Amino acid sequence: MITNRTFTMIKPDAVENGHIGGILEKISSAGFKIVAMKYTQLSTRDAEAFYAVHSERPFFGELVEFMTRGPIVAAILEKDNAVEDFRALIGATNPAEAAEGTIRKLFATSIGENAVHGSDSDENAAIEGAFHFSGREIF
Ligand code: GDP
Repeated sequence: MITNRTFTMIKPDAVENGHIGGILEKISSAGFKIVAMKYTQLSTRDAEAFYAVHSERPFFGELVEFMTRGPIVAAILEKDNAVEDFRALIGATNPAEAAEGTIRKLFATSIGENAVHGSDSDENAAIEGAFHFSGREIF
């Protein structure tokens, strides 16, 4: 398994607020190489499947509604130690608790509308990347 890759989405709030460029700049400056990228919108079925692990949580309906309300940018990123380093770059789930300079501190508005997704393990990075990209879309 390739372990130097992670998967990210720039979420609908950040797209709506004009932060695609700012977030991609932070990602590039931190040394991540973009090996796959697309501008797309999740269907309800996509979002329910992507976040299936949270289906019993009280915020699940809100999360699915949020993630489907507008376009997202999906990307696969490559760097040594990609999963861990990207989680550090994006910061805590709740932007109020995110460290200074992190993407969520800079661009997120709330715990739900938190600007970006980052895979939490190598295994999930591979699953999530394959959810969005075919082999010929990954470079
Ligand atoms: P992450 O790995 O940091 O993205 O956090 P989690 O895996 O715990 O949660 C997945 C996503 O669900 C988060 O990024 C948020 O968009 C959303 N979420 C988590 N907690 C809450 C919450 O308490 N309320 C709402 N509305 N959304 C939440």
